[in-house]
Amino acid sequence: MRTRTCRKCGETKAFDLFHRHKDCIDGRSYTCKACISAATAAWAKKNPVLVRAQQKRYRAKERTAAWHENRKRREREQMARYRKKHPERVRAARVDYYERNRESLLASAAERYHKNPGPPMARSAVWRAKNKERMKVTQAAWYRKNKEHVLAQQRAYRKKKLAAANAEE
Ligand SMILES: [Zn+2]
Repeated sequence: MRTRTCRKCGETKAFDLFHRHKDCIDGRSYTCKACISAATAAWAKKNPVLVRAQQKRYRAKERTAAWHENRKRREREQMARYRKKHPERVRAARVDYYERNRESLLASAAERYHKNPGPPMARSAVWRAKNKERMKVTQAAWYRKNKEHVLAQQRAYRKKKLAAANAEE
């Protein structure tokens, strides 16, 4: 069993009777738990005003956290009710949002990936790298087959974008 001698009371005690402390040798405090709680109690007795202030701050912090948590929960519930009531509206809004923000969504996805190329995109990147030639062939074949369709789609997209731009002016 690992033991340590407390710097304060001088008793040799089991390791787990000392608090964890990352800055100390072997990751445990040099003063035992009993001594620390005795010291804390003594300090509290000598500083009742400070203790009350500390408790007040702590309670206020807890209240604020609880208030935020409550609000978040209410919003979540509201959202869930809305989604349940109007699934079609939610779907339409999602599609609309994606279409309106497509460029920036793609850009930020690319940026996220650039900053942190972890999974799952990393996996597909690895796959793409491994299968570069295969992808090229498949893509070329697909494009040849669907050329007219792709071009028509691009024309339609440009036309729609132009119309939207005109409508905005
Ligand atoms: Zn001690």
